[in-house]
Amino acid sequence: MVKAFLASTNQHKVEEISGLVSPELLTLLTPDKKLDVIEDGQDFHENALKKAKAYFDCFGSPSLSDDSGIVVEALPDELGIYSARFGQKELTSQKNGGQKLTSQWQNELLLTKLQGVTARNAYYICVICLYLSDEEIFFFEGRLHGEIADEASGDGGFGYDPLFIPTGQSSSLATLSEWKSKNSHRAKACKQMESFLQGHKKDLDI
Ligand code: IMP
Repeated sequence: MVKAFLASTNQHKVEEISGLVSPELLTLLTPDKKLDVIEDGQDFHENALKKAKAYFDCFGSPSLSDDSGIVVEALPDELGIYSARFGQKELTSQKNGGQKLTSQWQNELLLTKLQGVTARNAYYICVICLYLSDEEIFFFEGRLHGEIADEASGDGGFGYDPLFIPTGQSSSLATLSEWKSKNSHRAKACKQMESFLQGHKKDLDI
């Protein structure tokens, strides 16, 4: 079994990933300190690598990172790798008495920016980096396609889930917790990683 530090303090990601990987193949360890990794990569792979490498270098043990986000076709430069920070600029430029960058605020801003826009295609992407050593660095990617709803609904999931309706579903991801656990971008990336670990049991000494 591979033991790896999970290079994230996002509790939602931690819970989702922990439930997605077979403990016989991978045990995720929670680091006892948070590292502030500057996510200034050009894409999800670069940011996932930065996070995994920082934890590997700090703890001297294998690590696993998740870099993810939502790509909204009508707003190509605003979300994607910037999903976590979406709205920060608008928030700072407003005199709003210490309002925090919450998911609810981000979702409201997204709806405002998409007012009157009919092309509402979007997809979630998750890139996992498994950093076993400086010579053994592996990436796994999953995507989930869908569209942005006209209003938020549901209280499951996190982030943009109340606004995201997966293709083939009629309600938001925040109402589909069980479905999300099997079909999300993160679930797909984890499935890929599981088959990789299963197929390389001998080489990786699992
Ligand atoms: P990261 O921590 O830099 O990877 O930022 C990921 C950001 O993308 C999160 O803060 C959320 O805004 C968004 N995101 C990623 N995955 C999900 C998901 O499964 N549901 C909702 N939002 C997500």
